[in-house]
Amino acid sequence: MKINFLGAAQNVTGSKHLIQTQGFNLLLDCGFYQGKRDESNKLNSTLPFEAKDINAVILSHAHLDHCGTLPILVKNGYKGKIYCTGATAEIAKYILLDSAGIQQQDCEYINSHLEEEQEPIVPIYTAEDVNKVVEHFQPIEYFRESNQWTELNENIRFKFYDAGHILGSAITFIEIKEPDGIKTLTFTGDMGRENSPILRSPEYVAENTQTLITECTYGDSLHQPLSNATSDFRNVINTVIKTKGKIIIPAFSLGRTQDIIYTLHKLLDNKAIPSLPIYVDSPLAENITEIFPKYIKDYDSDFWKDFGKRGDSPFFLKNLTYVRSTEQSKALNNKPGPMMIISASGMCEGGRVLHHLKNNIENPQNVILMAGFQAENTLGRKIQDGISPIKIYNKFYNVRAQVKTLKEFSAHADQGDLMSYISQLKNLERIFLVHTELRQSTVFKELLQKTYPSLPIEIPTMGQSFEM
Ligand SMILES: [Zn+2]
Repeated sequence: MKINFLGAAQNVTGSKHLIQTQGFNLLLDCGFYQGKRDESNKLNSTLPFEAKDINAVILSHAHLDHCGTLPILVKNGYKGKIYCTGATAEIAKYILLDSAGIQQQDCEYINSHLEEEQEPIVPIYTAEDVNKVVEHFQPIEYFRESNQWTELNENIRFKFYDAGHILGSAITFIEIKEPDGIKTLTFTGDMGRENSPILRSPEYVAENTQTLITECTYGDSLHQPLSNATSDFRNVINTVIKTKGKIIIPAFSLGRTQDIIYTLHKLLDNKAIPSLPIYVDSPLAENITEIFPKYIKDYDSDFWKDFGKRGDSPFFLKNLTYVRSTEQSKALNNKPGPMMIISASGMCEGGRVLHHLKNNIENPQNVILMAGFQAENTLGRKIQDGISPIKIYNKFYNVRAQVKTLKEFSAHADQGDLMSYISQLKNLERIFLVHTELRQSTVFKELLQKTYPSLPIEIPTMGQSFEM
């Protein structure tokens, strides 16, 4: 068996790992690069292998950096199935359609502002390409529901454990029969936290795992407990109530937006925070929120305590409006504060949040509340790092609004969660650290090596292969 690390190697986007065994090519994730536009476009428009040579794809979850280049794979002739949970299949369709839509809008905008000698640009895929991907999805239940393995051929089978990261996210356990014995591998995809809102904690793999490919986005740090969010929200809301300002929260439409609404709803019910109008300005977030009630069996016990027992939906509350049309979205500019606008994209790389940032970032009455991981080279990271002025759609804006970071909201395991998860795995022989920047993984590797001195631990580089 050979493992090829073809994305999310020493960075946090573009997840792609290729397992090759006895002529079978199994691709784990096919994710989008996010970062500098030209560089990402180049990386996303081609694949580091022949699509026709891939026999099967396992998709860990529906975040764009894990599923975003599936349309390129299918466009280039991939004929096989894309195995994922039912929720992932439903959500990935919306995520990919949204990505196609953003590319289309970006191209139209850029092409309408071209200098004479510049060539017009085209989207790397369209909604039509996305609709072809959907036909390849093969929904698989978590093993706890089905009690069944999925066989890829007579030598390879796998099962899904709950990763607790976003709705539908899965940890994949793979068993491969090779002439010299059985090889086992666990791929965490992205792993959630203990005690996150709505979802269950990550499930432990019960079998012996020789090889572990684990994310370690936060391998160097510990998250604040979610209970701290109460005082953060209270402080920020009190500030804008006084200044009649606006709170702009750039948030992923998938996961983070639902987590924030859930938490705000709970805090408002308990009268722990003052009330103000809340707008969720993302049609994608609304589409995804509508999928959540279908998978209520995947929710954790806290949900039942907080909402389920009294038959209440966490995603609907007084003062909360889902904004669908562009006109409604634009109208928010002229509405006086105080108010909160939750809008995508989470790293400020596109979407309606850019318009809210443009309109609000120069006003000191407002607060930009960063609620998610901001990858290197994204606009979100620049705002978080205090860089001013910043460039939005080719124009510079001075950052005069307050910029705050909500550290509590992370859908990723932190260093402690990762260590405790790894300690539960049996008979580990080798660990690969992926989905991480080099600084975080180096810290985490040192810590792991102290605990497991004889275990080979690798931080693969892009394109690196290992014979197992
Ligand atoms: Zn993710």
